[in-house]
Amino acid sequence: MDSKVAKNWIGGEWVEGASNVAVRSPADPSEVVGHYQEASADLVAQAVAAARTAQKAWWRLGAVNRGNLLYQAAEVLAGQVEDLARLASREMGKPLAEARGEALRAVQILRFYAGEGARAVGEVIPAANPDVFQYTRREPVGVVGVITPWNFPLAIPMWKMAPALIYGNTVVLKPAEWSSLTAAAIFEAIASLFPSGVMNLVLGAGRVVGDALIRAPEVDAVTFTGSVATGAQVASVCAARGAKYQLEMGGKNPVLVLPDANLDAAVELAVSGAFRSAGQKCTATSRVIVERSVYAAFRDRLVARTRELKLGNPLEPETYLGPVVSEPQWQKVRHYIETGMAEAGAPLVGGLEKPASLAGYYVAPTIFDRVSPTATIAQEEIFGPVVALMEAEDVDDAIDIANRTPFGLSASVFTDNLSLALKAVEELQAGLVRVNEETAGVELQAPFGGMKASSSHSREQGRAAIEFFTTTKTVALRPIR
Ligand code: NAD
Repeated sequence: MDSKVAKNWIGGEWVEGASNVAVRSPADPSEVVGHYQEASADLVAQAVAAARTAQKAWWRLGAVNRGNLLYQAAEVLAGQVEDLARLASREMGKPLAEARGEALRAVQILRFYAGEGARAVGEVIPAANPDVFQYTRREPVGVVGVITPWNFPLAIPMWKMAPALIYGNTVVLKPAEWSSLTAAAIFEAIASLFPSGVMNLVLGAGRVVGDALIRAPEVDAVTFTGSVATGAQVASVCAARGAKYQLEMGGKNPVLVLPDANLDAAVELAVSGAFRSAGQKCTATSRVIVERSVYAAFRDRLVARTRELKLGNPLEPETYLGPVVSEPQWQKVRHYIETGMAEAGAPLVGGLEKPASLAGYYVAPTIFDRVSPTATIAQEEIFGPVVALMEAEDVDDAIDIANRTPFGLSASVFTDNLSLALKAVEELQAGLVRVNEETAGVELQAPFGGMKASSSHSREQGRAAIEFFTTTKTVALRPIR
């Protein structure tokens, strides 16, 4: 892949862009992983036009036939899991084992939505006139703009494109700049299985290529995953021109540890939630709220376990966490660590230092002690391997602290007490609540999305995806006799 130049896939052809951009490894920025050709606003318009032209015939092909193509795509992708995982790991720094899991998940997502092509949709609803046959149809929204972040470079494009396609939409994908090579590799693997114009890819910066996509009059809907600030921009542009939009954004996900919790399990899953992918998951654990009676015992075990984690090259099997994705992300996380040091003192583990042998954008797993719930590092999304440990008086206090941020994506509670677990399930303001499980890791067949500033209205994944990617038409059919 080193000499590879990723291009734009428009109307069934690879198209060169306006400029060539080098992609450097976050593990060692002196290594060039590949190049991509950045699209212009004109190319975005061409991609949207190709998607528009292809949409009706794609819809008319029928869901069962579309499903068969998705099954074929899944099988092709399954044969390339190792290559895709290695590329993703080199391009954005996720440890290889995690990238492999993600590539397999992309295959499973395709299979799930392929099956959706043969499942019943719509309802038959009684009509007042018994002669009338009243039913609903699910029709595609049309052309869907897909805007994705870099942190799940394989799974997120797939969990948006696969449901869009199965319900009869055509797509234009604009992946994050930091995952352009991986997106192009997905297209290289499967796009030519589909009729020209059904899947399109435009590469480049959000403010140029992404902006042109969300403003394109013929883009009927935009599905977006990324930061709150960009999501707000997507929402205002789409709302102003009457396009449908869906936003999945940030999180500040808490783990609650109650006194009767299995502390070893809670430590292991808090560590995994906080530090895998170097904390760069929208569902990553960033706050750990522990009841007073077990605070010291939990903290000591958490710190001891964190000291064991191997920070290193993402391609090496013993690495637990690799670098963060880019220089700007590295600076941002380091800035939050400095803020944390001003707010909560020196961290219990981690901090600004990294091993001299690591040339890339590495951040050591970092834990701050006794953080105030109103501190910046307890309120703002850091998107790095940084945890704010907080003490709560009792379960009500823990839930209150957990709910006191603008976000509401995922939350975990560790307890063996069924009543307390159910209380937390009811009172935690989060779209995903997980009992004795880590905050990250929802299954692909289940609805995914958050409350408050974390998401807009609709849910992704599973059968819930039908709500965004289709429009309901209500039909009344009356024979005149
Ligand atoms: P980002 O908002 O910077 O970028 C996301 C995408 O939007 C990229 O493709 C980018 O190029 C594009 N973009 C940027 N400006 C744009 C504009 N003006 N118009 C149109 N498109 C534009 O986010 P990121 O740094 O790539 O990703 C990290 C963020 O994503 C974090 O906040 C994280 O929580 C969030 N995230 C959320 C989920 C979820 O499902 N809730 C999943 C993964 C990541």
